[in-house]
Amino acid sequence: METDQVHWLAGLPYDWMSFAPADAKTQELAKQVLSSADRSRYLAEGKMQLENFIVYTAVDTSTRKKPLEGWPGKRVISLMHVLVDSVSRGTLTLRSSDPADAPVLDPRLLASPIDRSAMYENVRETAHAIQAVEGLNAVEFGVDDFLRDNWSDEAIDVRANRSGGSCFHYSGTCAMGEVVDTECRVYQVERLRVVDSGVFPLPLAAHYQAPTYGVAEQAADMILSSVA
Ligand SMILES: Cc1cc2nc3c(=O)[nH]c(=O)nc-3n(C[C@H](O)[C@H](O)[C@H](O)COP(=O)(O)OP(=O)(O)OC[C@H]3O[C@@H](n4cnc5c(N)ncnc54)[C@H](O)[C@@H]3O)c2cc1C
Repeated sequence: METDQVHWLAGLPYDWMSFAPADAKTQELAKQVLSSADRSRYLAEGKMQLENFIVYTAVDTSTRKKPLEGWPGKRVISLMHVLVDSVSRGTLTLRSSDPADAPVLDPRLLASPIDRSAMYENVRETAHAIQAVEGLNAVEFGVDDFLRDNWSDEAIDVRANRSGGSCFHYSGTCAMGEVVDTECRVYQVERLRVVDSGVFPLPLAAHYQAPTYGVAEQAADMILSSVA
């Protein structure tokens, strides 16, 4: 949707982000379900699973061309919830033996009950916090009546299916230790390295551009020293 006040290509208006670990119930679930290595990583002190920020306009991922009836103009904010330490793992497989064919990528977003628990509790808590702000009188705009003020898992399922998506922080498709070694060389293939965000073996609780530059700088040094 594009209006006088909403211009997608101008960037998102927001001025802070917050990171937080998953709630206690999710941490308990993680203790029960995860392998011991994954569990200690997930529950490590200071490890963050969630990111939240508020955008001072409507972020509407639908293909609507015109504002909905009753569009409240500038009096709109959008709550953005991001899972930055996903337990779910996607898959990447070849579509065919033709190298020009795009591969088949299935990110399997929110496939793990741990991810759904962390994310849904986060959505619930944020909604309750916003609704508790005195004098704000926040109401949800643009949702069906059965969703309004409904923060059950089932309702959040519907919201996630309708407007959820990725933050484009894809990684792990050529994970270090599985596909490449610690110098980004592809195992069992000579003279081939992968140097991009695909080599991160685990999700980073961060945005990916800077870490990807870090990998690129490091790999450039390794490559240069190997040919020197
Ligand atoms: C819309 C969007 C918003 C984002 N916002 C942020 C943000 O705010 N902060 C942040 O930290 N991260 C952000 N990211 C994530 C970040 O941009 C990526 O994680 C990062 O760019 C990944 O780097 P990469 O080198 O792995 O892949 P890419 O940056 O995608 O680089 C791959 C390169 O390979 C080239 N290429 C592809 N196929 C071929 C081929 N066959 N031959 C030759 N070249 C080829 C492509 O043209 C491209 O230049 C965002 C990503 C997107 C898509």
